[in-house]
Amino acid sequence: MHFETLAIHAGQSKDPAYGAVMPPIYQTSTFAFKGVGQPGEFDYSRSGNPTRKALEDCLAALEGGTDGFVFATGMAAEATLLDMYGPRDHLIVHDDLYGGTHRLLVNVTQKHGVEVDFVNLREPDLLRKAIRPSTRAVWTETPTNPLMNILDLRAIADIAQEHEILTICDNTFLSPYFQRPLDLGIDVVVHSTTKYINGHSDVVGGAIVVRRPDLAEKIKFLQNAMGTCAGPFDCFLVLRGVKTLGIRMEAHNRNALAVAQWLESHPKVERVLHPGLESHPQHGLAQQQQTGYGGTFSFCVEGGEAGAFRLLGAVRLFTLAESLGGVESLIEHPWSMTHASMPEDFRLSMGITRNMIRISVGIEHIDDQIADLAHAFENV
Ligand SMILES: *Cc1c(COP(=O)(O)O)cnc(C)c1O
Repeated sequence: MHFETLAIHAGQSKDPAYGAVMPPIYQTSTFAFKGVGQPGEFDYSRSGNPTRKALEDCLAALEGGTDGFVFATGMAAEATLLDMYGPRDHLIVHDDLYGGTHRLLVNVTQKHGVEVDFVNLREPDLLRKAIRPSTRAVWTETPTNPLMNILDLRAIADIAQEHEILTICDNTFLSPYFQRPLDLGIDVVVHSTTKYINGHSDVVGGAIVVRRPDLAEKIKFLQNAMGTCAGPFDCFLVLRGVKTLGIRMEAHNRNALAVAQWLESHPKVERVLHPGLESHPQHGLAQQQQTGYGGTFSFCVEGGEAGAFRLLGAVRLFTLAESLGGVESLIEHPWSMTHASMPEDFRLSMGITRNMIRISVGIEHIDDQIADLAHAFENV
């Protein structure tokens, strides 16, 4: 079946009790046994819950995987996955990635004795050079933000497979609607469902999808052992959000591309970082690997930080806030907000500048979005 159909139906069979069309919220910690030694399909909600299972099966279907697991947050999903590794294991991680992932790897994973190397994975040769006999996994994220760099997932998966190294991709920015890493040879997909998958900025959540039974078994074990799973009410909200993922992503993509083109021709904009524009250095790779570009991108304004602040202070429809992927448009200043925890020289070496602005273009009418920005630019 097609993506739009799976988003509405996968994992969601009719409720056996009353035939409810929408999956009920099984807000229960425990389930009655049929008799001594005879548990039902579910026995305790940390180990499994019917509302959670509906979402897990739905996300697995959308990513083209066999098994899905959902977590309290995106970071809970990542922490659970990284717990597969211990002392002397070596991980190769893309050097430009979500700040929270960077913090987890440096302040938690490395402290547990795992060796982590940050490498620019846009250069496949650098990946080859970084591989050691103890290398267990390669961690990717594409596109990254706020720089909107693209990684060639197929090339990375091929190199890793030669060395029997696991590959992981954080697919939060595009969602399975625009990018399916498992189809490109990646072993594990990770999500912050907080963003596009839920899409309504009313829940935090995470997910992992795999298509290898050995990995599914390990992750299922860790999810239960660590207790990092999502609760039933949050799963219900994400299930409700994911039903419209396809049409939302189309609208985000259409609006963001139109805003990016408008910004590119604006005299007060120095540059626009959007992989759907021909000016993007990896436009060709993005076209080949993704079926769309999503709704989040960055641009640099004239007038340095002061120019950026004046624009941010003048928007009305766009809300000044971190996060992304909701139906409403958000705008933020990576230097002082989402990426402030990174050391200043690290930000500069990556190319994050004080005049950079990141926007998550929502699904309001495009004319209202552009009118808001046009008005705000009068203050720059
Ligand atoms: C937000 C985000 C995360 C973390 O997810 P939370 O749900 O906030 O814990 C991880 N990766 C990316 C790319 C994100 O944008």
